[in-house]
Amino acid sequence: MATYSALSQGIYCIDAHYVQPGVASIYLLQEADEVAIIETGTCHSLKNVLATMAELGIDHSQVRYVIPTHVHLDHAGGAGAMMQQFEQASLVIHPRGARHMTDPRKLIEGTVAVYGQAKFERLYGHIEAIPEERVVVAQDLDCHSLHSRELVFIDTPGHARHHFCVYDAASSGVFTGDTFGLSYDEMKLMPRGLLPSCPPTQFDPPALRESINRIMSFRPDRLYLTHYGEYRNPAAQVTNFNRWIDQYVELCNRTEPADQAGDEALENALMQTVLDGIPAGDARDRFAQLMQTDVRLNAQGLGHWWRQNRDG
Ligand SMILES: [Zn+2]
Repeated sequence: MATYSALSQGIYCIDAHYVQPGVASIYLLQEADEVAIIETGTCHSLKNVLATMAELGIDHSQVRYVIPTHVHLDHAGGAGAMMQQFEQASLVIHPRGARHMTDPRKLIEGTVAVYGQAKFERLYGHIEAIPEERVVVAQDLDCHSLHSRELVFIDTPGHARHHFCVYDAASSGVFTGDTFGLSYDEMKLMPRGLLPSCPPTQFDPPALRESINRIMSFRPDRLYLTHYGEYRNPAAQVTNFNRWIDQYVELCNRTEPADQAGDEALENALMQTVLDGIPAGDARDRFAQLMQTDVRLNAQGLGHWWRQNRDG
């Protein structure tokens, strides 16, 4: 059976079955007889996408666009496999991401460097190259129409330089990829939700703040987070989010992560900050377990950023 939830305005949130349920999503937008798919998950996610489409009565030939927000593999790893299924579709991608979709070798190398070979294969499986003629590059503020519905592409560096977000006026929503951070269901425990995500190697605090401003300039009522699901009233979270970015920078300056040992000290400090204000107990322990991978990746990304910043 397919695992998805129906949101408003022809939008469906499909579980990518990445690591565990509720961690990564794929969005399907339907307008009349046309469909766009935002995010692809990995090649392992395709089965649930196809099952969801079958339940919704959507034919493969209706998919007009496949749109990864950026080329990190929990977002774009399944793009090649998806494009083989949806022969009528174009892949819409950020200008800095396009070459990685037509020749994924460097992307694979970079991800293996972060995760190691065994974990890479378990998480991402096989990455297919996509023929160049099926790739459409979306520049900042380009529009693509899905039947009568306009999708606006917004260049949003900060998490990664190859990241765009997609504004959908019909639902007053923005598909934010990882630009507006993470909010798993369990994160409702946290007094301050929406945790910025900054894995290696392109975290850029000023660019991220500017990208948040740009997203909010569209005055969205809701965000569609890849990690995970619909998030309402984002305006109320902007101050908190920017405070997190400041805190990330302060944590770096305090721990001065000069090397891998420094990254580990930073990871511990970051975990303490994430857990701050949550009462001790089983729920807190489970939450710490859930956040472990993101906190580790964030610490690695912050360490990388701090060393680059220090060395000019
Ligand atoms: Zn992600």
